Amino acid sequence: MSGQLHELGVAELARRLRTRDVSAVEAAQHFLARGQAHASLGAYLATDEQATLAQARAADARIAAGDAAPLAGVPIAHKDIFVTRDFPTTAGSKMLEGYRSPFDATVVRRLAEAGVVTLGKLNCDEFAMGSSNENSAYGAVRNPWDGSRIPGGSSGGSAVAVAARLAPAATGTDTGGSIRQPASFCGITGIKPTYGRASRYGMIAFASSLDQAGPMAHSAEDCALLLSAMCGPDPDRDSTSLDAPAEDFTRGLDGSIEGLRIGVPKEFFAEGVSADVRAAIDAALAQYEKLGAKRVEISLPRTELSIPVYYVIAPAEASSNLSRFDGVKFGHRAKQYADLLDMYKKTRAEAFGDEVKRRIMIGTYVLSHGYYDAYYLQAQKIRRMIADDFQQAFRQCDVIAGPVAPTVAWTLGEHGNDPLADYLADIFTLPGSLAGLPGMSIPCGFGAGGMPVGLQMIGNYFQEARLLNAAHRFQQATDFHLRTPEGF
Ligand code: GLN
Repeated sequence: MSGQLHELGVAELARRLRTRDVSAVEAAQHFLARGQAHASLGAYLATDEQATLAQARAADARIAAGDAAPLAGVPIAHKDIFVTRDFPTTAGSKMLEGYRSPFDATVVRRLAEAGVVTLGKLNCDEFAMGSSNENSAYGAVRNPWDGSRIPGGSSGGSAVAVAARLAPAATGTDTGGSIRQPASFCGITGIKPTYGRASRYGMIAFASSLDQAGPMAHSAEDCALLLSAMCGPDPDRDSTSLDAPAEDFTRGLDGSIEGLRIGVPKEFFAEGVSADVRAAIDAALAQYEKLGAKRVEISLPRTELSIPVYYVIAPAEASSNLSRFDGVKFGHRAKQYADLLDMYKKTRAEAFGDEVKRRIMIGTYVLSHGYYDAYYLQAQKIRRMIADDFQQAFRQCDVIAGPVAPTVAWTLGEHGNDPLADYLADIFTLPGSLAGLPGMSIPCGFGAGGMPVGLQMIGNYFQEARLLNAAHRFQQATDFHLRTPEGF
């Protein structure tokens, strides 16, 4: 039976752990062994068998004592952007090599309280900046569907761990698409909740007005279980966490979607969307119509502007957030320097990668006197208009659907030294991020090279349950989310 353990999702594993069909220690060992066997994928940055097994033994004790923790003993892994006491945290950067946090991120703590066991930390783009995971200081991650392709980013390690069954689920973070895009590229399910649903405390900050945590798993049901544990107010530690009570996102999963109005923005099907992706999305929308949903044509007229707007605002915030890495309090410090200023300069020059440096420079530039009004302020104004466009659209529909990305996963090195190629591919995830809306990626087919395609669903604020319900109904009628890459 333990040979099939890795095929189980979170919901089923939790059931078997509760009935003591399998122990938390057995489950943890099984997944750790798989992680080791497939180390060449590059998904894990850190594991610690002793720490994991100690958590697993504690979970077994909780189960034996009749504790009703919903996820007791379920092993998961965390994107290495969440600080953890039991494992090192690097954010994919040389800057934090060997860093160990004295505390757990709120999301990590909440999941631990719900009973999960941590398998380790997962690779990601440096400080979550990227779309291919190639910006990690610790090497690229390979897509298990085709080892010559990228897994997407920045939560590439998370998506690969789940897709290759090295973990039943993982945490991710999404600032401009980093949960949805790698989920789409690796054929798994992921959800980014409404901005503020999950606490950002202990999530190493990239762009604070956009950063949001969410689960990545096989199914909408698994995501719902994890999201219920992750969300909730954290007023003392994150002032932007919403004062909304924790919700049980599994409650409405089975509800009918008869009459659900699915808005399809014409801008999400413009030139640049490849024919294979378009075909998979069209088929998914047809499936939804079969399930009783109605297709409504809508417009999000400022979709294209989301790219320049995001790539002004996110670097601006990053330039400020990353100023804390100065060699003084934590992280890397240059060995040789002349004076304090020289120490700052050498430390940062040595330990930040190219993309991070590029964003710090862009961010500092757009915030500087004389350019602030021309770039930063202008971007903020358009950001508001983009959010308003969504509210206009939600008068005609209940959810919005379209592709997550214009193409399937590209090959490693394909975008070479052209960061703009990466930026442009974010076009469909950025608008929802700028508006702070919840969004999902749902496996909906395969495109060029047999690579997975994800359907993006965007909901209005606080409509996570509705998105999960729509995704669950789709997954009851299809099996894309159950397909496994060959050899895994
Ligand atoms: N690809 C986007 C970027 O590079 C989004 C990253 C993210 O969501 N963390 O900024």
